[in-house]
This record gives sequence, structure tokens and C-alpha cells, in this order.
Amino acid sequence: MSVKDLTILGCSSQQPTRHRNQGAYVLRWNGEGFLFDPGEGTQRQFIFANIAPTVVTRIFVSHFHGDHCLGLGSMLMRLNLDKVNHKIHCYYPASGKKYFDRLRYGTICHETITVVEHPVSQAGLVEDDGNFRIEATFLKHGVDNIGWRITEPNARKYREEDLKAKGIEGLKIKELIQKGEVTINGQKVHIDEVSWIKQGDSIAVVIDTLYCQNAIDIAKNARLLLCESTYLEEHRDLAHDHMHLTAKEAATIAKNAGVKHLVLTHFSARYQNLDLFAAEARETFPNVTIAEDFKVIRID
Ligand SMILES: [Zn+2]
Ligand SMILES: [Zn+2]
Repeated sequence: MSVKDLTILGCSSQQPTRHRNQGAYVLRWNGEGFLFDPGEGTQRQFIFANIAPTVVTRIFVSHFHGDHCLGLGSMLMRLNLDKVNHKIHCYYPASGKKYFDRLRYGTICHETITVVEHPVSQAGLVEDDGNFRIEATFLKHGVDNIGWRITEPNARKYREEDLKAKGIEGLKIKELIQKGEVTINGQKVHIDEVSWIKQGDSIAVVIDTLYCQNAIDIAKNARLLLCESTYLEEHRDLAHDHMHLTAKEAATIAKNAGVKHLVLTHFSARYQNLDLFAAEARETFPNVTIAEDFKVIRID
């Protein structure tokens, strides 16, 4: 079975601290690597995390504030140096195209890789390539800023004991998969009698926003929501002035969206003790993980 995990490469907001690099998150899933918001220093964080940057197949930039994209140029440079031969898909708000170009072409670089750009100008389905469905929504942050939802396809799962009981084995299994039914000893067996459909998991990423309905909608029933919580409730005014969430608000989004697991990140440098975020969020939503640089969150 392939790896399915989220590694935190950084969890600070604009200002890094001794223990928290600017944000960046790599999600490994079904043989792909989704890199979200590569902040400054992301390339080096991969090394500390023991993950080869070449796992990256898609890069998502929520918005073009520096802490969400300053590592983009160096990540692309690194993938060029490594001469990866898979395509690198890049998703970002279309209104930030000029910043994307500056980051991509900011230095002398010999381009060896194929970058496929997906500038996003409207909410909804961005791409469905059969491997993943990618949806976007616009959040409330004063600049175009996208919340993402990634969904894997549904998969049919077979019940070994039922296959055995019906006497379906070997080539008959292949026939059942191809035709949807098979005849055994003169009796028809439909595929649904021996299998079930597992709904594909969804993972949502909501980083840098005020509390808003779009954040709830994009995360609806997701397996995991990675969400910013820059501040605690005691600094609610600051959070709102800077168009950010408190831990309580992030937890309320998770609760109202009915997600299974909430991961909080993007902490202001003013806080040393992140246990306070966990305590505040858990009053509203119990299944909370606090991001930490290099923490690996297993999804299965
Ligand atoms: Zn930020
Ligand atoms: Zn921002």
C-alpha cells in the first residue's frame, strides 16, 4: 500500500521562529506529492524531513503573500537540477500570475522540467484527471486566496470471504471486474454481492482567511482539514485586523464542516506554547493535531 501522509515542513506565519519555519506542507498520496504553500526555506526543510523533493508532482500556492510562496522559485530550481521527468503541475490564483512568473523566472536557471500552470480564476472544479479531483474556493483574506479540496476516486473493495463462498477465483475474478457479473455453476453473481464502494477520501487546505462559509463548504466531510489558526481568542481583534483565524474559529469551521481530523498551523511568532491552541480548539472540536515542523500525520 502506498504512503498516505501529511508532513509539516513549516508551520509559522510570516515571521519564522527558532523552531518554526515559514509554512509548507507535503501530502504524499497514491504515488503523488502535493506541496502546499512553499514558504522560504522549503527546499532545506525537505532535507530535514528526509523526503526527496522529487516526490513533488503538484504545487499549490494559496496566495502570493511571501510566507506562502517565497520558496517556490528554489523548489522549481531544485526540481530542475534533479531533472525530474514527471510534469510539475502548479495551481495558483490567476490574479497572481505576475508574482508566479517572477518567482519562477527570478534567477538564472536552466529549465529541464515541464511545468503545467493552472491559474485559477473561478471557484469550483479545477481539474479531474482520473487520479485526483481538485476543487478551489476563494477565501476572505483581502487578496485572492484559494482554499483547496483534493479528492481521490472512489474504489471498489472486494470481500474475500464472499468471493470464496461464491466460488469466484482466478480468471473468474477478472471476468467479474470486467463484466460486472459472472456465472458460477449456472448461477449469476453480481459484483455488488461480493464488493462495496469505498468513497474516496478528501483533504482540504484552508490557509489565511477570516471565518467564512466558503471555508466550511470546501472542507465538507473531509478526512482531514489543514487549517490556519494564526492567533488565540485572546487576540481575536488582531486576528480580524489581519484577516486570520483564531484556534476557536478554525475548530468551528472543522465542526461545521463535519471533518474527521483538524490540523492547525500558521502560528504567529508571538506564541511559544502551542498547547494553548490545542486546548482552545478542543473545546469546540476534539480531534485536533497541532502542526510542528517535521511532524508526520498519517492519514490511513
Ligand atoms: Zn500567511
Ligand atoms: Zn496571507
